[in-house]
Amino acid sequence: MKILVTGGAGFIGSAVARQLRSEGNDVVVVDNFNEYYDSSLKRARVNALLQGVTVLEGDITDGAFLRRVFNDYAFDAVAHLAAQAGVRYSVEHPEVYVESNIVGTQTLLQVMAEFGVTRLVYASTSSAYGNSTKVPFLEDAPADKPESIYAATKRSGELIAHVYHKLHGMDVTVLRFFTVYGPWGRPDMALFKFTEAIQKGDTIDVFNNGELRRDFTYIDDIVAGFVAALQKPMGYAVINLGNGHPVELVRFIEVLEEALQTQAQKNMLPMQEGDVFETYADTTKAKELLDFEAKTSIEEGVQKFVAWYMSYKEHC
Ligand code: NAD
Repeated sequence: MKILVTGGAGFIGSAVARQLRSEGNDVVVVDNFNEYYDSSLKRARVNALLQGVTVLEGDITDGAFLRRVFNDYAFDAVAHLAAQAGVRYSVEHPEVYVESNIVGTQTLLQVMAEFGVTRLVYASTSSAYGNSTKVPFLEDAPADKPESIYAATKRSGELIAHVYHKLHGMDVTVLRFFTVYGPWGRPDMALFKFTEAIQKGDTIDVFNNGELRRDFTYIDDIVAGFVAALQKPMGYAVINLGNGHPVELVRFIEVLEEALQTQAQKNMLPMQEGDVFETYADTTKAKELLDFEAKTSIEEGVQKFVAWYMSYKEHC
């Protein structure tokens, strides 16, 4: 298949693009390499992971650019991972989220419709469930009480994609990811930040006194689910991709301390604006439809992250 991966220089997009390429697909990446976090990490992912992949620098809000790309490559499917990510940053910078996640998603869908490309897998988020959904989160929960602009814009993307499914017969699979972590991960996320701080002997900020639960999901498990979704058009489907075993933040920090063989200095803080207390995926649907099974324990996954982090810091 010829596949466009938006956000393909990002953490998850680069891993998806790499896997698709290794399975023999023609892969084109579009990414704007923005500076939300150090873009040298995005360039390093491209260099290390994306041999044989065509990488184009551009913005998904730019319809003229997208039309040129779709004109040059006859795509069979689109893996849409480009987004402004991060719950906390969205409190201060809501407009960036509306631009990339709503305007960008709609522009992409419109160009897909114009060029008759009918298969989309959209990276969405467990944040869509907000704080009011009972656990474990089931895909048919209303997901209509977002806690952050990030969540609201990602949920909007799901709804806009539904319209394109209805109006243009697009096959849309929405995958709601649960706290993805692993090698080449994002520097704004807890695992990267904690590792960096512990290594430097700095304190780490622990929100809600560590009494938060996250369904941490390892990158390879997410990639396997994503690739399976691309291979199976289903009309319109929303599917959780999560580990299915939430872990307390304090336990997560312990696992990291063990991997680094260093004690963290913790700065206990209250709950952060926009955050949720718990995420917990019901993965029954993912198992049924995608044969998805999260295989990586946090002990193994954190160890792999730390090994990657050490070698990355040594070489960059
Ligand atoms: P990331 O920031 O590493 O990747 C996103 C990429 O998209 C970046 O490389 C960025 O430069 C690019 N991008 C952003 N806006 C763009 C635009 N307007 N045009 C072109 N490129 C643009 O983040 P990630 O963690 O890899 O997340 C990938 C996707 O998964 C996102 O859609 C995110 O909402 C979703 N997601 C991630 C997690 C997680 O835990 N990492 C959890 C739930 C959902």
